[in-house]
Amino acid sequence: MSSIPFSELPLAKEQIANLTELGYTSMTPIQAESLPLILQGEDVLAQAKTGSGKTAAFGIGLLAAIDVELFRPQALIVCPTRELADQVSKEVRRLARFKQNIKVMTLCGGQPMGAQIDSLAHPPHIIVGTPGRIQDHLRKTTLKLDDVRVLVLDEADRMLDMGFADEVENIIQHTPPQRQTLLFSATYPADIEAMSQRVQRNPKSVSVVTEEDGAQIEQRFFETTKEQRITLLMRLLSHSSPESSVVFCNTKRDCQAVCDTLLANGISTLALHGDLEQRDRERVLVQFSNRSCRVLVATDVAARGLDIKDLPLVVNFELPHDPEVYVHRIGRTGRAGTEGLAVSFCTVSEMARAHGIEDYLNLNIQWQDGQELSSVSILPLASDMLTLNIDGGRKAKIRPGDLLGALTGDAGLTAAEVGKIDLFATQAYVAIRSKSAKKALEKLRQGKIKGKNYRVWLIKNSD
Ligand code: ADP
Ligand code: MG
Repeated sequence: MSSIPFSELPLAKEQIANLTELGYTSMTPIQAESLPLILQGEDVLAQAKTGSGKTAAFGIGLLAAIDVELFRPQALIVCPTRELADQVSKEVRRLARFKQNIKVMTLCGGQPMGAQIDSLAHPPHIIVGTPGRIQDHLRKTTLKLDDVRVLVLDEADRMLDMGFADEVENIIQHTPPQRQTLLFSATYPADIEAMSQRVQRNPKSVSVVTEEDGAQIEQRFFETTKEQRITLLMRLLSHSSPESSVVFCNTKRDCQAVCDTLLANGISTLALHGDLEQRDRERVLVQFSNRSCRVLVATDVAARGLDIKDLPLVVNFELPHDPEVYVHRIGRTGRAGTEGLAVSFCTVSEMARAHGIEDYLNLNIQWQDGQELSSVSILPLASDMLTLNIDGGRKAKIRPGDLLGALTGDAGLTAAEVGKIDLFATQAYVAIRSKSAKKALEKLRQGKIKGKNYRVWLIKNSD
């Protein structure tokens, strides 16, 4: 919590009283950073972890811009899921209590269109919704966004992860160019920056990064030999069975060798190194992020710019020469409030590097010799998901909803069996629960996507 009270902001005194009633006395750090800018009408790109009070930041901001006498949507909040849209609606309604007669409406799928259309006949001041349903109403012209003053993209990183980029940008085209655009995100990957550049004007970036990021990472060091470390790695993976993990090697050759050995032992693994063609690299990253692959063995260069969230385990198969590279590697675990484990293997010849890390981080390494893992038997590690590759993408105007529709509608899969959808210019990738993958493949091959037949195949990790 910052120590700055809401009363320092240029807000109506009724709103200050309302906030006090809600128990909001001082601003959270992200509110203190972003609200003054939002109230000045600036476009803001705000990043702070979950639970930091982002909803009230944009909620208080947009409410100050609403003209109650004008019965037109003046603020639009786009959220990735129904559940989030419901939560945001609730919070905005509480924040709106200081003004009489502010109408907030939620537009999500799963509710009958008819009732929503009736309700939109008396337009609300504020709309909260998901991209799909908002677009449905725009197509039917039952929703007009000509008077939108404030547009909020909440959990923008998740919207991009879910493949909503095109939908969101299409919605934005229905709003006036002079609007204020607020982009909120828990993380700050490169595609958020790119989106901001497309949809915001002169945005001010604010971010509240948790102090002491390293505090959440448990670091363990094993003294081992070149011959033993591959077995140690497999025991470690069998023992902790992480959903996803990255194993760093210093060279392409080691990277490929480790990957081959893990695969030969039934461990779902892919290698990421500089020898891969762009297209193969893209495919590896897709398979890893959509959970079709559990272990990624990577070199530092190849892993640059890789944004994987919530990795429970990072392994240094070899120690890097530079302590900064060590910090960078282990920083990929323990993100966003989750606990991470960083395990490092060190041979006698790498000891000097370990001392370098100790000095750099002011650390006192407690060495382990792997004895406690010696009784662990090496087990296969399969992934829950498989990836379908569709030979068509954005250029063919395929959208995530088309793929989800083709799979859940005609193919009879439930939404729970479908995972992450990634769309590229000419390719699309859909993660499917392994059990249902064959069925999904057959159905997609028989049926059509947007009225057309596409080549569809299952990616095998050994490809
Ligand atoms: P985020 O969107 O950043 O994940 P939320 O907006 O959902 O976070 O807020 C998390 C919780 O903090 C909510 O329960 C909200 O009511 C509460 N909260 C927000 N701002 C304040 C504040 N200034 N003082 C006290 N509680 C707050
Ligand atoms: Mg939020």
